[in-house]
Amino acid sequence: MSGLEDRPTDQLADMIYNVLWQDLLEVWRIVRTRVDSEGAESVKSAFEGAKKRFLEGPFKEHLEVRWGMNLCMHCNDENIDKNGISYVQPSGDGLEFNQCLNCRVGILYNLVVANATLDSYNIGLGLAGQYAGMSIHWNALTPKEMDPFLPTYEVINEGQWMGTISFNDQLEARFLPFAAMTATTARGAVEPWTSEIPADVQAAIDAFKETAKEQIEVALVLK
Ligand SMILES: [Zn+2]
Repeated sequence: MSGLEDRPTDQLADMIYNVLWQDLLEVWRIVRTRVDSEGAESVKSAFEGAKKRFLEGPFKEHLEVRWGMNLCMHCNDENIDKNGISYVQPSGDGLEFNQCLNCRVGILYNLVVANATLDSYNIGLGLAGQYAGMSIHWNALTPKEMDPFLPTYEVINEGQWMGTISFNDQLEARFLPFAAMTATTARGAVEPWTSEIPADVQAAIDAFKETAKEQIEVALVLK
């Protein structure tokens, strides 16, 4: 019906990175079937290729910018929201969540004075506020320090960055609360992660798992 079923996996992966489909979860569900039909390694390699094309193509000029996201790399619009700075240094520098409200993609930028360098690029899944009132973005590009926690997702509640969630192979979640991302905490530190998740975030996670199970299963393959 949608024609998604006929597209090769690397094209589906490109569509995800470049947000070229209204409901990306539909694309992820097709990709999930490819894990069974083509194998995990083949899907993983399709995403590696898409990531490379994205980094060397549309995203190239956004790896390092002044002041963070000003114009969205996809829609070229300035409908940008800043959802909070974590790891805030005494100077006011830190890790800032920037989001395009049109495309629902986010970039975490390390801000040092006016210089913003990429930490993570993430892609909204489902509608804004779909999960018990919260929004969930999958981290499509992440820094090396976050490898042990993959796959990771950012949670936003009414414009406020709540923190990061991580799923294990049993689809159990861990949470890195925004408040625990302090100046004295290392980006990849394991200590601030907790399985004691606040009830409102847990409700969002439960709703997300119900709607986006296939996405999480593929993301686990890609880690
Ligand atoms: Zn945009």
